[in-house]
Amino acid sequence: DTVVLSADGLTKHFPVRRGLADLLARRLRVVHAVDDVTLTLRRGRVTALVGESGSGKSTVARLLSQLYPRTSGEIRLHGGVSAVRGGRAFRAYARKVQMIFQDPFASLNPVHTIRYHLTRSLRIHGNGGRTRAELEDALHALLTRVHLTPPERYLDKFPHELSGGQRQRVAIARALGANPEVLLADEPVSMLDVSIRLGVLNLLRDLKERLHLAILYITHDIASARYFADETLVMYAGRMVEGGDSETVTQRPAHPYTRLLIESAPDPDTIQGSARKAAAHTPEDRGGGEPPSLIAPPAGCRFHPRCPAAMTRCTTELPPRLTVGDADGHWAACWLFDPETVAAARPTASAA
Ligand code: ATP
Ligand code: SF4
Ligand code: MG
Repeated sequence: DTVVLSADGLTKHFPVRRGLADLLARRLRVVHAVDDVTLTLRRGRVTALVGESGSGKSTVARLLSQLYPRTSGEIRLHGGVSAVRGGRAFRAYARKVQMIFQDPFASLNPVHTIRYHLTRSLRIHGNGGRTRAELEDALHALLTRVHLTPPERYLDKFPHELSGGQRQRVAIARALGANPEVLLADEPVSMLDVSIRLGVLNLLRDLKERLHLAILYITHDIASARYFADETLVMYAGRMVEGGDSETVTQRPAHPYTRLLIESAPDPDTIQGSARKAAAHTPEDRGGGEPPSLIAPPAGCRFHPRCPAAMTRCTTELPPRLTVGDADGHWAACWLFDPETVAAARPTASAA
């Protein structure tokens, strides 16, 4: 699989003021929203980025799309170091890396028709053809790609005349108008009716296969990652804590946080559970304590205050990515997988 987009050591700190006292004292605090995130997106593969609210998933997507400047770290498209905002190379980057948002209604202008939105995307990216007929063909091709057929039924409608699922398909079609290589989909189905989620996920999978897109699929719902993604990455409090093949990560999770996520998912075998889950994704609803403040994140492993397996070293030493078992590419940032700890545990009891 060809690596299309990679990020190395991606970090985003937001300076913020909290409350009147900060304002009066002119004090800035730093939100450690994303720290040292490394990932690769490959052609024709879906990578899920999973984590609870506030873990930094959207910030990662915004950094990858270069909507936000990063505090530090590197982003590479086909191995080339990312370009400076505003330049020609940056425009090429912005064309190849497209974003899809949670709320298709907010991302489509209500006063314009579908034809307008798609024409604009095609024209901006130079894919609208030279004649009216070529443009019309390109519009039809886009709507057909997202299974809104016959296209003429949709082209002259306004966003409010479509259902939520149809609007999200239009938003996807608009992204495809750029002829991208990467789609960053930030919770693309979480605002849709449960009954139509699967259809939109299947569409994305179809695009991955036909257009060989590299897709980052951001979600709260680890069950849908198993169904839909080839690879799954788990984030906790701004850091990546586990990664590997989706089947392995969801069936044999290694990191205590991933285990908690899976235990608190109402129905791990279907994505039908995700509606209730989305309605109840605040940490208090899930049990097991709250995520830490990102202004003063816990030292060592950020999960240690909530972790049932925490050891002394976890409170001071940051765990690196450690290989889990024999599964190809499965890793966890957790001291339980330190080779010495594993060896020491082996003679007495097995965790299984
Ligand atoms: P959700 O699942 O709710 O969408 P998320 O995983 O996408 O959450 P982010 O939106 O990336 O999380 O936010 C990560 C952290 O960064 C949060 O603590 C958030 O408050 C903070 N944050 C995000 N954007 C900003 C900003 N522009 N200024 C200050 N803090 C921010
Ligand atoms: Fe728990 Fe320690 Fe592993 Fe962190 S490093 S998840 S605190 S066992
Ligand atoms: Mg988000």
